Parts: sequence; structure tokens; C-alpha cells
Amino acid sequence: MADEPTPLESEIRRLIEVAGPMPIADYMRLCLTHPQYGYYMTHDPIGAGGDFITAPEISQMFGELIGLWMAAVWQQMGAPENVRLVELGPGRGTLMVDALRAAKTVRSFYTAIVLHLVEISPKMQAAQQQRLESLGEPVLWHPALTDVPGGPAIIIANEFVDALPVHQAIKQADGWHERMVEIAPDGKLAIGVARDPLPHFDATLPRELRQSPAGSIYEWRSDQLALELGRRARTDNVALIIDYGHVRQGLGETLQAVAGHSYTDPLRRPGEADLTAHVDFASLAQSAEIMGGRIHGPVSQRDFLLRLGIENRVAVLKAQAASDKAAEIERGFNRLTATGPKGMGELFKVLAIADPKFGALPGFET
Ligand code: SAH
Repeated sequence: MADEPTPLESEIRRLIEVAGPMPIADYMRLCLTHPQYGYYMTHDPIGAGGDFITAPEISQMFGELIGLWMAAVWQQMGAPENVRLVELGPGRGTLMVDALRAAKTVRSFYTAIVLHLVEISPKMQAAQQQRLESLGEPVLWHPALTDVPGGPAIIIANEFVDALPVHQAIKQADGWHERMVEIAPDGKLAIGVARDPLPHFDATLPRELRQSPAGSIYEWRSDQLALELGRRARTDNVALIIDYGHVRQGLGETLQAVAGHSYTDPLRRPGEADLTAHVDFASLAQSAEIMGGRIHGPVSQRDFLLRLGIENRVAVLKAQAASDKAAEIERGFNRLTATGPKGMGELFKVLAIADPKFGALPGFET
């Protein structure tokens, strides 16, 4: 017998029945952030008991090195008396807790910080609140970056951009058509294509992709966040974006669903799986640069962490640790920096968008 549809699937079917097929981006947005049934609204997805694991949950070293990076960047900014520390999609707050512990060693930086967290899910916000409470520092939450006031800021986003909705188009004889979620004749949710081609779509593509053969798929995100980061960069802002993705624009679809640490079909059981897609770092950089931000990187997560001295940190932590803990530290280091498809070292990239007056940033120069 077929499973009962999830409450979100019933809702999505209703929307399609009323308004017709919806772009994949709308489907993805509903799956992740529908106010009642969205994945992030109902789940705490991160960690061994959740659906996936992220770098800060693998090892405390990740957040600590970012904390020290922030302190160095703040000094390069001219050590402003007040600096906003903004994290986009902070998950369980682990990165921030580890980063602040390390940042405390630079006392003048620590006292300059005001914390702003951008989080759409009340459930995740509650998790962050509980985690950060012990620090005894004021924390402000916002639903979007556009709600965070301007002025000197360091913005961090780890595995945030991959959760922002992607659109997809497929090339056909008469042009590129947006891929849509529809109800197939057998009653299941399925991927279809919009009847009319997207007007002038070829002109928005990188030149080398304009002559793509029929059947090619192109994926893109709204450039709203990239434009905002580029715009802010001009007023004493530095943003650090860490995510998995590709350095060049290319063809192909990367939308994936993960539940219980395994891949599932993105169209099955909406609201119960995490949906993500690769980050296109070239597009992100381009949009941020147009607005006046200076782009640093992208570099691989491996190179970034090695340049920030992760090997020293491994040595220090191991020297302090009991032997069973030492193996865990080594495992964490390996996972964060390993090359190849299973490691995070190459798959994950690090990009910074900064005020051009700040010059070279730590971690990006050889
Ligand atoms: N940075 C964390 C968590 C990554 S999971 C880590 O590395 O562990 C993605 C996070 O972004 C979650 O906290 C999720 O609730 C939040 N999120 C997803 N989409 C969002 C959106 N559109 N606006 C704000 N927060 C969002």
C-alpha cells in the first residue's frame, strides 16, 4: 500500500492543482522553509541522530580556526570598536560557540563583538539560544540578512547557500524551458517542463554554455544574497562563505535529498528530507563583484584550513588529550581536509567577499 502523503505533499498538490506546475525552486523553498511543514521548521537535522553532519559538528577545530580568522580580519579592518558578527544559518550554534571560545584569546576583538544570527526556523533558533546562553552575551536573531543593520561586520555562512532554492532549465529545440514540479498522470509528483521557453535565457548564460545540446540542464540560484553581500562589502564588511560546490559554471543538475544520512528521491516525502544543491561559486562571485565587493578565492577547504594552521591545532589538542580522544582529533582532521569524493577537503570551497580596502585576507594567500 502506498504511504500516506506527508502534510506538505498534500499542500503542494493543492497548490499545483490551483496554480499549475511550480518551478523546482518553489518546490525546494516549500520543502525546506514552509512555515508549518518545512524541513528546517520541524527537524533538528544535524549530527549523528539527524540527517547529515557538518564541519563544525565533526571537529571543534573548524570553528576555532574561524574564530581566529575573524580576529585577524578584524585587525585588518582597523580594529573597529564595534563589529557585528553575523552568522547565516547557524544550525546548532556549534561553529559560533567554538569560534567565540577561540576569539576570546584576542580580548579587544571579543569585547568589540555584537552577535547577529540569521535563522528562519524557530526550532533551530531555540537550539542556538540554548547553546549560546552559557556565553552570557547578547544575541540578536533576524529572519534575513537584509534585516541586519549596516556598519562594520564579519559574516559567516557554512553550508547555508546550498540550502537556498535552485532553479533548473532544460535546453530544447526552441530554447531553455524551466523544469517544474507537476502531478504526473499516475498521480505522483514528477518533474516536467514549462510549456514556453524562458525568454532570452541564452543571453544570461556564460558564453561557452550558450550552444549547449538539447537535453542539457542548467541550474541557478537567485543572486539576491550575492548582491547583498557585495553591496555590504563596500561598507566595512567581510563575508566568508564555505560550502560544497563548483568553481566554474557548468551544466548538469545537483539537487539532492538526504534523510538519515542516505540519499533519497527529492520528490518523495517532501518536508522529511534535506534538499540541497551545489553552490556555483563563479556566479556568486560575479554578482558580489558587480556590487563592489572584492573576491578572495575560492580556495579548497583543505588549503584554507592548512593555511590557518589546523595541523598545529591538531598537535596541541592531541598533546592535551587522552589517547582515545587523540584518535578522534585525527579523524576529524582527516574528514575536514581529505581530498577525493568522500572527504570535505576538496569538495568544499571557501570564498570571501570583502571591502576592497582591506587587502589580502588570511587563508587565501599561499
Ligand atoms: N551552519 C550550520 C548549519 C547548516 S544547515 C552548520 O554548519 O552546522 C542550514 C541552516 O540554515 C539551518 O540552521 C537552517 O535552519 C538555516 N536556513 C535554511 N534556509 C534558511 C533561510 N532561507 N533563511 C535563514 N536560515 C535558513
